[in-house]
Amino acid sequence: GLGLTGAMVYSIYSLRHPEEQFEPSPDKKTLVILGTGWGAVSLLKKLDTENYNVVVVSPRNYFLFTPLLPSCTTGLIEHRSIMEPIRNILRQKKATVKFFEAEATKIDYEKRIVHISDDSEIKGDISDTEVPFDMLVIGVGAENATFGIPGVRENSCFLKEVNDAQNIRKRVMDCVETAMFKDQTEDEVKRLLHMVVVGGGPTGVEFAGELQDFFNDDLKKWIPEIQDNFHVTLVEALPNVLPMFSKQLIDYTESTFKEEEITIRTKTMVKNVTDKYIEAQVTNPDGSKSIEKIPYGLLVWATGNAVRPVIRDLMGQIPAQKDSRRGLAVNEYLVVNGAENIWAVGDCAITNYAPTAQVAGQEGAFLARLFNTMAKTDAIEKELQHLSDTQSQAKSNDERNQILDEIRERQKQLRRTKQIGPFQYSHQGSLAYIGKERAVADISWLSGNIASGGTLTYLFWRSAYLSMCFSSRNRVLVAVDWIKARLFGRDVSR
Ligand code: NAD
Repeated sequence: GLGLTGAMVYSIYSLRHPEEQFEPSPDKKTLVILGTGWGAVSLLKKLDTENYNVVVVSPRNYFLFTPLLPSCTTGLIEHRSIMEPIRNILRQKKATVKFFEAEATKIDYEKRIVHISDDSEIKGDISDTEVPFDMLVIGVGAENATFGIPGVRENSCFLKEVNDAQNIRKRVMDCVETAMFKDQTEDEVKRLLHMVVVGGGPTGVEFAGELQDFFNDDLKKWIPEIQDNFHVTLVEALPNVLPMFSKQLIDYTESTFKEEEITIRTKTMVKNVTDKYIEAQVTNPDGSKSIEKIPYGLLVWATGNAVRPVIRDLMGQIPAQKDSRRGLAVNEYLVVNGAENIWAVGDCAITNYAPTAQVAGQEGAFLARLFNTMAKTDAIEKELQHLSDTQSQAKSNDERNQILDEIRERQKQLRRTKQIGPFQYSHQGSLAYIGKERAVADISWLSGNIASGGTLTYLFWRSAYLSMCFSSRNRVLVAVDWIKARLFGRDVSR
């Protein structure tokens, strides 16, 4: 017993106190990675860091498991349970990786320099500086699309980062408590308890489902007065929600929402937002159009991605990016078109695939393989050079033949390593939680195309997310949060 405990303590100790690390070296290339999201982190996880001087720059010193972010808006999951410190990931690498918590403000393609700026509250003597690179991987993601619709930025909550989820959580409770304020008028109570979600993609659908769960499981039991007026509405410009899923799953989602009493307003395009209502253009069944004002207490805006300014600026520096609109155009090896030594992964890169975590993760892993191979080929080529030098100076025939054999062996190795093919996305399926302990799944690796919805799918959704959660630490934390909410309900303090 004691021996086992000792071994366990030692293994935890050695995990937390890794062997001595290598120092940056002048004869290695400097590889700068921008971002700590799905693309950048899956690259980091698989990269042999001893081949390069690796520098990571991101305004966020943690990885965020975004698929469970909607659950943080209701307190079902605490946000720290889905955060993984980047320092924790980096210290498990063989060679030192430098990390700078900063935003990349400009990428100078010609000079091979990234300008970075410390955007945190505490600033040292230096808060703006430059990082030179030999190779650059851009994985900065995207920002929230607003399509220039007036009032969106000022009045709505987004759902991309941890603080967005926290804002929503506070705002929901603020709406509820304000609605319960003494002498509140009836119209105002209705407005305050109207939760409007704009955008019927998976983000909007999952959030609407989680919010309605919160109401059904906890809110209405704890504050019965809000029963008749608390209402979730999902607004979508297109004729249906979840366009990436099959017709059957769309129908299943729509009927589940009906049971849950979530209102779906399709063919309703928001055109203007004020602090108390949205104005939307509604296409009526007869094809005519009308403008409608919809009052809200909470407005969550989930209409997809837009290009970040730092990316737009870089695109302006590269003639080959002139015709690209939605992000950096890349080739099949994820090299940014027209820019040698710059790669892009995830939502800032334009590929043939949807901007999902799954795609970004696979792109990052592909680049790791590519860079590991590049380092290996470099090393073999150097050895080959050295071998042919020594061969010309060989004294005896025997020695020369021996070197020749070795050269052939190295050349074979070189051919093998150089065989890395272009990036190919392998779709594992799509999963979305729709509330009421139901999920929809489109799982392509199960014999063809199985579309399924329901409670079993939901259990699958849960176990899939648990097994995908980044570290075992996150896995434990998320599982405990789920159990806590089952036992005690969600925490409704603001
Ligand atoms: P999205 O782009 O998938 O959906 C946005 C929706 O907003 C669209 O249906 C669009 O028609 C609608 N819209 C746009 N402007 C509007 C307006 N003015 N008024 C009303 N509706 C308007 O965005 P998302 O849901 O944030 O997803 C972004 C990406 O992330 C997608 O690729 C998605 O597949 C992926 N994602 C996947 C999952 C999952 O698999 N569970 C979860 C979240 C996000």
